[in-house]
Amino acid sequence: MTQPLLSVENLSTWFHTSSGVARSVDGVSFAIGAGETLGIVGESGCGKSVTALSILRLIQPPGRIEAGSRIMFEGKDIVTLDDKGMRGIRGNRISMIFQEPMSALNPVFTVGDQVAEVARVHGNGSRQDAWNRAVEMLSLTGIPSPEERAKQYPHQLSGGMRQRVLIAMALMMTPALIIADEPTTALDVTIQAQILELLVELQNRLGTSILMITHDLGVIAETASRVVVMYGGEVVEEAEVKTLFAGAHHPYTEGLMNAMPQITASRGRLNVIPGTVPSPTEWPSGCRFRDRCSYAWERCEREHPPLYQISGSHTSRCHLAVEPERRAHPHLPLVEQANATV
Ligand code: SF4
Repeated sequence: MTQPLLSVENLSTWFHTSSGVARSVDGVSFAIGAGETLGIVGESGCGKSVTALSILRLIQPPGRIEAGSRIMFEGKDIVTLDDKGMRGIRGNRISMIFQEPMSALNPVFTVGDQVAEVARVHGNGSRQDAWNRAVEMLSLTGIPSPEERAKQYPHQLSGGMRQRVLIAMALMMTPALIIADEPTTALDVTIQAQILELLVELQNRLGTSILMITHDLGVIAETASRVVVMYGGEVVEEAEVKTLFAGAHHPYTEGLMNAMPQITASRGRLNVIPGTVPSPTEWPSGCRFRDRCSYAWERCEREHPPLYQISGSHTSRCHLAVEPERRAHPHLPLVEQANATV
């Protein structure tokens, strides 16, 4: 990658609550090049959405971005930018597509008004200019009869159409980066495929970078060129998408791959990762995945794994990188052993 468009360096976003400090994002680093789609994948609670909100500086107290974090975007550090500087970036140079189109739209305004509002807030043109651009953007996202649809209210549109409206809003100011947080989760499977296809097509046409946040490796395979896997508030694996699908290294990524529904899988048998993500106020010592890992041994409890280089730009936060012979001896993960003795 040449000069990255966005570079997240050692990002820590912690929530200082009465029950302890939740280290939801804990020393995360990654970069996105111009025109690139980077996927961030992981279960709920792994820190991916907090990472996205941190990039837009939308973290509310008791959460805060900790000292030592840097988010470099177009030569500026977002972490230290003043409010005026941030308004110039949020919705303008970086925009976001949320996962629930119905709650992201205001039910009492027409969709055309809501799309045009983005230009009115960030641009200098007339109301008519903003409206014309809104219709143009609705048309670009494949909404049929966009002049008519623009005059309708959100409840008059299907879920897929509403998501296209949100994409039109995100594109209004021709941003350099779009953050898409689970953009298809709330949609039917057939509509999901259409929306992903639309995002890829628009990106090819407009050259916008996309940060695709999802729990679904299938979405990553459809859209991204590189992927960051998060677990326990940390990056645990990063690779080109084709490298990851050819051979994931981290046991958590392996678990995510195995949990993907297979057309050939026998009925009723889905592979699941045992247990749940631990609380961010109490990450385990050593490797944060160790209670759920079938390879864990004593070193995993004692030593927090660094990001080891596997090959080229492929990295993994797992001691198996330096003791690969351990892979030959899997056993029941600790959480399954505990369940077995109940
Ligand atoms: Fe499993 Fe140990 Fe690797 Fe963690 S470091 S993923 S516990 S093998």
